[in-house]
Amino acid sequence: MEKLRVGVVGCGAIGREHIARITDKFSGAEVVAVSDVFVEGARKIGEPLGACIYNNSADLVYDDDVDAIICTSPGFAHRETILQALEAGKPIFSEKPLTTSAAESKEIVEAEMRGGKRLIQVGFMRRYDRGFRQIKQMLDSGDFGEALYSRSTYWNPQIGHDYDNQMIITDASIHDLDIIHWLLNDEYESARVFQPKRSSHAHKGLNDPQILMLKMKSGRIATVEIFLNCQYGVDINCQIVCEDGVIDLPTPAAPTFRKSGNLSVPLEQNWKRRFTDAYDAEIQDWINSTLKGEVNGPNAWDGYITNVTMEALTAAQLSGEEESIIIDERPDFYK
Ligand code: NAP
Repeated sequence: MEKLRVGVVGCGAIGREHIARITDKFSGAEVVAVSDVFVEGARKIGEPLGACIYNNSADLVYDDDVDAIICTSPGFAHRETILQALEAGKPIFSEKPLTTSAAESKEIVEAEMRGGKRLIQVGFMRRYDRGFRQIKQMLDSGDFGEALYSRSTYWNPQIGHDYDNQMIITDASIHDLDIIHWLLNDEYESARVFQPKRSSHAHKGLNDPQILMLKMKSGRIATVEIFLNCQYGVDINCQIVCEDGVIDLPTPAAPTFRKSGNLSVPLEQNWKRRFTDAYDAEIQDWINSTLKGEVNGPNAWDGYITNVTMEALTAAQLSGEEESIIIDERPDFYK
């Protein structure tokens, strides 16, 4: 196969960005079909590319000219498209979340295993961020001894009024939940959620900030601090405290400047721009590995892990208690 012929389901914000990446930045793939329930949106994006336009995912997935699928519809619609792709035996990149519940993600995992071939990659793009990859290499080198605990922050300047407490778990925390178990090579065991004094910048109905505490099977503890109205900028940090040293995620390089009596480092104001390079690397890697018939990145089992963990965190948010995270044994298929 010279070029991967890609069909994109869901032409909203991130769908359009991935289409632009494939079309303007990368070699190795072309977008040959697009679909959206809002078909005018699909037409606007697809017609200039000469792509086939569909108003439903099944027609796109079963189109013989489509080799592989990118699913960028809202989370609740992922399950249907992924099951169609598995049925058609086609590789699929699904944006996070894999699905919106642990039960649905388990169904997907079981369907993929029944097919006997790994076809699904999930859009956990932090694994492609240069800084997180450096931390992973440092931890895996053994030079720092055992990791003991970790502390992550997801601080963001402002959040829209449609954001609610549940989305703190299901939307804001999901990338941290994926990256922590990947970095530490460990499994989650239980979850608690702490809700400190509420910021006066938080809108009615949102308790902001919130602190998630995860115990891991090895005894490690990971905390994730989420503060979505911190006012000043996107500030994503990760610190791993080890037996023989401490590792900190580097802040992406930016020029410092001296002005008005200050020596400053500018911080990104938009979380998407913070990870532009990671999104690029992620989609290019998906294209390259798909052309080789492989799945390289985060898989459906990783998607299932985040769903189970998010359900425990949501329960903990409501109960104020420690809630168990019960994840099935990882099948050999995903090792
Ligand atoms: P969005 O702007 O709302 O785009 C979703 C698009 O899909 C809309 O055009 C929507 O049409 C359409 N749609 C709705 N139901 C559909 C269906 N059944 N089949 C096909 N298309 C359908 O959302 P987004 O921000 O692009 O997010 C899309 C997905 O990417 C979500 O799962 C989100 O969590 C994920 N995401 C991931 C990241 C990341 O960091 N990895 C970042 C952003 C988003 P209507 O508007 O008419 O409903």
